[in-house]
Amino acid sequence: MRFPSSFLDEIRDRVPISGVIGQRVTWDRKKTNAGRGDFWACCPFHGEKTPSFHCEDRKGRYHCFGCGVSGDHFRFLTDLDGMSFPEAVQRIADMAGVPMPAIDPQAEKREEKRRTLIDVMELAAGFFRDRLQASEGAKARAYLRERGLSARTIDTFQLGYAPESRNALKEFLASKGVEKHEIEACGLVVHGPEIAVSYDRFRDRIMFPILSSREKVIAFGVAPCARTRWRNI
Ligand SMILES: [Zn+2]
Repeated sequence: MRFPSSFLDEIRDRVPISGVIGQRVTWDRKKTNAGRGDFWACCPFHGEKTPSFHCEDRKGRYHCFGCGVSGDHFRFLTDLDGMSFPEAVQRIADMAGVPMPAIDPQAEKREEKRRTLIDVMELAAGFFRDRLQASEGAKARAYLRERGLSARTIDTFQLGYAPESRNALKEFLASKGVEKHEIEACGLVVHGPEIAVSYDRFRDRIMFPILSSREKVIAFGVAPCARTRWRNI
């Protein structure tokens, strides 16, 4: 079965990841700052003598600077103990004292839909990023440079560019098999009973993806590509 992401979030939030990992490793006393939820240990995934395995309760994630493994509660259990994903979920739910969700076809359908909308937002963000790097994004890139943003910052914040077009994004999403109603549900096109043909809401704009705590694109911040004329007077 698929687990609702709200359920997975809830149990992950209730159980500090250090509580899961701490059952399998011994924390390094010198490097660890338990009060800040900041833990270090020798990595259980690769043999080592000095601790380069880090886990942070606030983020609910672990990362090994030695061998590069990283993940969350479930990943730790599936990768280290060879549990199946549902077994790992069951274990964390038990630790959280939260009953496993009953199978609810309605809820699964809602979850499916929510996932689809997030997928569409991710596709759109990728489209905007590509457009910024394409020739049509030259003006926007120049503007961002002028504002002091390095290529690295642009990359880190996944900035993009919505081209000057009424249907570039719409056509791109359609080419990826996204249905008309899904595109409309994301608010990326202007549509309505008065509008014969929907059109891209954002045109000739710099796009700043807004990420959820799970690092999924859930919305966009938008800015014009140049200072508006009145400011130049
Ligand atoms: Zn490691």
